[in-house]
Amino acid sequence: MVQWYFPETIDEAAALLGRERFVPHGGGTNLVKSGIGSFAGVVDLSRVPLNYLKTDRGVLEIGANQTFASAADNLSNLYPGCILAAALGAAASTPLRNRITMGGSASLFPLWSDLIGPMAVLEGKIRTEGQNAGTHDLAPWLADRSLQKGTLITSLLFPDPSDWISVYHREVRVGFDYPAFTVSVLARTNGSRVERIRVALSGGTDRVVRLAELEEALKGADLAKVSSLDIRKMAAVRFGRKPAGSPEYLSEIAAVQVERCVKSALFREEGTR
Ligand SMILES: Cc1cc2nc3c(=O)[nH]c(=O)nc-3n(C[C@H](O)[C@H](O)[C@H](O)COP(=O)(O)OP(=O)(O)OC[C@H]3O[C@@H](n4cnc5c(N)ncnc54)[C@H](O)[C@@H]3O)c2cc1C
Repeated sequence: MVQWYFPETIDEAAALLGRERFVPHGGGTNLVKSGIGSFAGVVDLSRVPLNYLKTDRGVLEIGANQTFASAADNLSNLYPGCILAAALGAAASTPLRNRITMGGSASLFPLWSDLIGPMAVLEGKIRTEGQNAGTHDLAPWLADRSLQKGTLITSLLFPDPSDWISVYHREVRVGFDYPAFTVSVLARTNGSRVERIRVALSGGTDRVVRLAELEEALKGADLAKVSSLDIRKMAAVRFGRKPAGSPEYLSEIAAVQVERCVKSALFREEGTR
């Protein structure tokens, strides 16, 4: 029989997660689907004080228990136009956004994640307690699932969340669909030049990629030269088969959407900062 636990502190929760076949419960939107019955203990996190969103010296920290809905709300007040607010506020459906937590999402990072693209361009980090306590960059976190064993995600850190022109696109058939892919673009311009640009595409076979060749080609570029670049070629990413289309089709439309998002960020700045 599965035993539920309701720790009230981070230490208590982390200690419980050190036990064999114990699993944390955030919003439950995936855990319930994956079959709680196979675990010995379920550690409900709702009483652990991780439901916060704060900034300290420009670094944004979002506690693992913040739901997508509350994080999107808080962010749209704090940093209007922030890519995270746009992404989290558009994810799934309202009832789901009211349950999905930042911690559960960062643990799973599914192919349809609306968090992973903004994490990649904002260069977000995952803060943990327990067996692998520390602060983890996204790439090693995604590459090594064993980091999560016996580990509690306590918060996500975003070192440089504001003052970007931002564009977020989720490729869906209807609003509450799982996105087939997402495009995240952050840019800073200086006069007629692209000062900095970051572009991430999620949903392909690599889950999320920063389009390094494209970023390099655009960095410092004169805006007048942008239209002569072959952005679609530099945005070519491999996809697997999905309900939304064949790998070839998804690869093609993803490249088109990257081009649109980049141009939208660079040439239609108003209202997106
Ligand atoms: C129909 C449907 C549609 C969805 N659509 C989208 C979408 O469009 N975009 C999107 O981004 N998401 C979407 N989701 C949510 C996504 O699929 C996952 O379910 C979600 O990210 C999990 O978050 P959760 O808080 O519910 O975690 P849970 O289900 O509670 O847990 C998921 C996993 O994370 C672990 N975990 C939870 N909290 C922590 C923590 N603090 N530390 C360590 N491990 C933890 C759990 O043990 C479990 O392994 C959808 C879900 C459903 C059911």
